[in-house]
Amino acid sequence: MERVIVWFRKDLRLSDNPCIAEAVHLDFAIVPVFVWNNSQNDPWVPGAASRWWLHKALGSLGDTIRHKSGELQVLEGEPSTLLTKLAQDNQCSALYFGRQYDPYGIAEQEKVQSALKNANIPWKSFNTHLVAEPWENLQENGKGYQVFTRFWKQCRKYLTRTPTPYADSKIRFAPPQGSGSSRLPPAIFLSQHWQQKLCAHWKISEQAGLDKLGNTIGSILKSYRYKRNRPAQSGTSRLSPYLAWGLVSPQRVVQEILAAKDEENRDGVSKFLAELGWREFAYHLLYHQPQITSSPLNPRFANFPTQFDPELFEKWKAGQTGYPMVDAGMRELWETGWMHNRARMLVASFLVKNLLIPWQEGAKWFWDTLVDADLANNSAGWQWSASSGVDYRFRVFNPALQGAKFDAKGEYARKWLPGLSAFSGSQIHAQKREDNQLGESYPPPCVDYHGARKRALELFKAL
Ligand code: FAD
Repeated sequence: MERVIVWFRKDLRLSDNPCIAEAVHLDFAIVPVFVWNNSQNDPWVPGAASRWWLHKALGSLGDTIRHKSGELQVLEGEPSTLLTKLAQDNQCSALYFGRQYDPYGIAEQEKVQSALKNANIPWKSFNTHLVAEPWENLQENGKGYQVFTRFWKQCRKYLTRTPTPYADSKIRFAPPQGSGSSRLPPAIFLSQHWQQKLCAHWKISEQAGLDKLGNTIGSILKSYRYKRNRPAQSGTSRLSPYLAWGLVSPQRVVQEILAAKDEENRDGVSKFLAELGWREFAYHLLYHQPQITSSPLNPRFANFPTQFDPELFEKWKAGQTGYPMVDAGMRELWETGWMHNRARMLVASFLVKNLLIPWQEGAKWFWDTLVDADLANNSAGWQWSASSGVDYRFRVFNPALQGAKFDAKGEYARKWLPGLSAFSGSQIHAQKREDNQLGESYPPPCVDYHGARKRALELFKAL
């Protein structure tokens, strides 16, 4: 039987994987491999929480492959060298991989392609990570979109795309040969005490991702439009980390959501698909404007005067700002590696506009602590929150008002700030707070919200 390497990247799954579909279609035995690239000078090497997720996801993928008499090889080093050698040692007729869209992922795949070409080994790449690739959906002038609504209007036509079907029983793995090692390289899993806590919140496997999708369809969709903004409720899918590492494919998510559409959930379906649309848009922006990861897309914002106060930054990270909605979000992140979108928007606005700390610092903290850390979504989320991206309306979220509106009973705040358990929603999210109104142990506001808001608006007007 001919052999082909499947190089797993951000597509750690066996189902709905076009690389595997191609191997099955051609009746090739698969040599499965993941490479932990330690040789590039990549500033966006996965952060601690993401590495923890990756470690578990590789373990689970390895188990599934072992049940099918194969062995996932996890190698550490320069992919171009390792993959060429692996292909030669295993006498593989080709290498298949899923494309990436960030500058480092692109450089990595180009290097691999050129090394394989020099060694006369054919390769084929596939879209394993998106509904539509960033170059498929362009404006009439051939340029990328800047406005989500226009982008999404056009992008929706790709939603009917179906992944190539193949039977799980048809997947064949080749026994490994040569220098492969299936042990996980220690560098992937930098043990930190807090990561142990994450285990209580997540099941990490392809099946667990599909279960989350099933739960989304069964329990979330109907009330998604309303509940998705209520952080105390389980109103969103929590599929983000599964999508980030590709344990579930976005096309599969779209197909199943569309298939479940009925009279009762149609509103939820269209809103949910639009949220996936934001993910597509973030990748679109990352591909066409790769500076999104570090510089404002709106040049006007380049001169926004920031001031990095390390003490305030530590308070923000630790959930000690004295604003319950902000602190609850930051504690949720620290405890679970995930934060509700409503809280993400608020804590980001607070850091940039009330504390005047550069958004890039917040983005780095999220990168290190989110299990769903995703360069496209994280960069776009921070640029949106800082008003420095393609949508530059200068919103300053008021933590008390946000709390009163989206956490009126104070459930979210009490869940993550146990010191507030004796207080009601209206006390917790009060606009005006007397000294010690929330008890001795809860910190006073670290800045005066209204003064800080006024300062931010004046600075923005002066740009
Ligand atoms: P659901 O509401 O169930 O949505 C389904 C899927 O749609 C999500 O899993 C996600 O893939 C996508 N999605 C939903 N909302 C957004 C959005 N606003 N932008 C892009 N995609 C979206 N998301 C990440 O996946 N990784 C990140 O690193 C990340 N960083 C963010 C940073 C900031 C400052 C902000 C404001 C948002 C960030 N987001 C990020 C987007 C969003 O908060 C998460 O995708 C969402 O909270 C994940 O929860 P869920 O899976 O339950 O979402």
